[in-house]
Amino acid sequence: MSSAAPMSVAEKDRRGLVIVHTGDGKGKTTAALGLALRAVGNGMPVLMIQFIKGKWKTGEREAAKAFGGLFEIHAMGEGFTWDTKDPDRDKRKVREAWEFTKEKAASGRYGMLILDEINYVLSYDYFPVEEVLGFLRDRPPALHVVLTGRNAPPALIEAADLVTEMLDIKHPFNEGRAAQRGIEF
Ligand code: ATP
Ligand code: MG
Repeated sequence: MSSAAPMSVAEKDRRGLVIVHTGDGKGKTTAALGLALRAVGNGMPVLMIQFIKGKWKTGEREAAKAFGGLFEIHAMGEGFTWDTKDPDRDKRKVREAWEFTKEKAASGRYGMLILDEINYVLSYDYFPVEEVLGFLRDRPPALHVVLTGRNAPPALIEAADLVTEMLDIKHPFNEGRAAQRGIEF
């Protein structure tokens, strides 16, 4: 794997991990962003693909711009909605996002790949988990991959090196308090 940007963590010193953040509690995407911050600070280029988030402005996308190309976030989330009217269209959009992900990853530029909300997409059978497992198997050995979202498929949990389940103990949504900028997006 070649890299356009200098890496302070030599590839030979990295053993790529498959990391899964799942569960019903808040923090899956937030924890992935924390890992990205750590990776970028060590000179490792990060690619984050958001499979659900829409095109609206988010704090993470604005902040990523400050890292001079080391942290790329792509919101492909248009392709997936909670109350879909056209599942076939959504499937096509998810497929497009997945092809885009593979193409970008094949550049060999990244030290970490974050597939945000992909677990959720997989749990809806929008594309087969086997494709993701195949991608993980064939990836460059130094590449870290973080997969977030509720309902991670058992086969993915089996294949992962590190799995964390966020446990929902309390959330302001449950008391009717709305999502707020700086906390949720
Ligand atoms: P975050 O992006 O804040 O880390 P998440 O990735 O763990 O959250 P998602 O399943 O992606 O959670 O949910 C997205 C949105 O739902 C976020 O705005 C989040 O605050 C909210 N949310 C997460 N967990 C809960 C919960 N247990 N109850 C209600 N809302 C939640
Ligand atoms: Mg999330």
